[in-house]
Amino acid sequence: MHEECGVVGVSFKDEAPAALSIYYALYALQHRGQESAGITVHDGTQVRTLKGMGLVPDVFNRGDIQKLKGHVGIGHVRYSTTGGSKIENCQPLLVSFKSGTIAIAHNGNLVNSKELRAELEKEGRIFLSESDTEVIAHLLVKRLMHSELEDAVRELMKRLVGSYSLAILVDNKLVVVRDPLGIKPLCLGQIDNGYVVASESAAIDILNGQLIRDVAPGEMIIFSNGSYESKQLVRSRNYAHCVFEYIYFARPDSVIDGHLVYDARMRIGMTLFEEHPVNAEIVSPVPDSGITYAIGFSKRSGIDYMEGLMKNRYIGRTFIMPGQDMRETAVRLKLNTIKPNIQGKSIVLVDDSIVRGTTSRRIINLMRKSGTREIHMRVASPPIISPCYLGIDMATREELVAAHKAVKGVEALINADSLGYLSVDGLVKSIGIPLDDLCVGCLTGVYPVEIPGEQCARRQLKLSEF
Ligand code: AMP
Repeated sequence: MHEECGVVGVSFKDEAPAALSIYYALYALQHRGQESAGITVHDGTQVRTLKGMGLVPDVFNRGDIQKLKGHVGIGHVRYSTTGGSKIENCQPLLVSFKSGTIAIAHNGNLVNSKELRAELEKEGRIFLSESDTEVIAHLLVKRLMHSELEDAVRELMKRLVGSYSLAILVDNKLVVVRDPLGIKPLCLGQIDNGYVVASESAAIDILNGQLIRDVAPGEMIIFSNGSYESKQLVRSRNYAHCVFEYIYFARPDSVIDGHLVYDARMRIGMTLFEEHPVNAEIVSPVPDSGITYAIGFSKRSGIDYMEGLMKNRYIGRTFIMPGQDMRETAVRLKLNTIKPNIQGKSIVLVDDSIVRGTTSRRIINLMRKSGTREIHMRVASPPIISPCYLGIDMATREELVAAHKAVKGVEALINADSLGYLSVDGLVKSIGIPLDDLCVGCLTGVYPVEIPGEQCARRQLKLSEF
């Protein structure tokens, strides 16, 4: 099961209600998951959780937030398309055990959860959900029975392979952990009277907070009584920050691992023109994912930026009745052309990525129907040729169009007059993080951790070497 998620943790010094801040932060992270949302808080004696399916405003109302009393807490938004759309998989995951309770919010994906789960099941442990977060919960509880918190988390990290940015409540203590490779983002900020940790800095901004820094890969931070203590539990020689956060997933107003996503996307747009120059009358984005790239492309090329497509922002999960032109209705509900802007023109169409190719094909078809003369597709990522095992819900290898077709083949399939993808070098240079510190598994098929049947980039640090 592949998941994309957003996590948040808030710890206040006094009795300020954490739930309200978590609720706002989850709004800021809504793009990271629209399937379920949850908040768990602790007031010093009691833990309270509310979670449910849907968007943040579907799950919580004002009364709910008021009832979630506590000065410390965590929150989660979750998105999963691969069969895991069930209430049991909603987070935070709450577990009570002999010496207390823990609640976990997890962003990422373990690649060894099957083995760990089998091992735990052999010991007689029972699982209620499909999620790898429950594996983490069991392993942590098991260690907390015998060890102090720091040792328990250190031991836990030795067992986990994959991506994990975790916000954990151990009774009324907020603990956050980022995997040693720093695959998924996690950052720390100061807010009035306390601290916030969130998947993206945009969540800190909306709480009027200050971004302090990223949580370091392999770092654990424990918050209590208005202060925090950091422990670097594991140190890896190189990191593996997910490139797809920069390409598609993160908000452009977030700063991830020291890089403003907007700037990276602007530079990518410029590099895209340098790598695939073209003569055209206007540059148009696929909204919203292509906008910043198209601006960068326009700046560098001198070709006018003009919108040719308009997105309906209220589309949500519309039910489309099956019928003859169901597909076209579905596309038009979501995107419509601004006909006079594109009719008879030669256009550079910019989008962030092509995954299955369906979206590009439909959009180009729509534009041709509106009379566009030439469509030169420019894509802000290299061809996606391999699946993601580390937390981006992409597609299977069979579904990835670039896994089976060369550029000319994809060009023909989407019916573009020309197609240009950004190179891996161009991407890395534009982001500004060395290749050795990025995960580019989806673009190269070479991964930063061992995955059965796939190639691995590095000599793996044995877990015992951590
Ligand atoms: P398609 O090629 O039809 O599979 O869709 C590609 C489009 O989906 C891209 O233009 C992206 O904007 C968007 N996209 C890429 N990755 C994801 C993802 N992991 N989840 C949701 N949408 C995505």
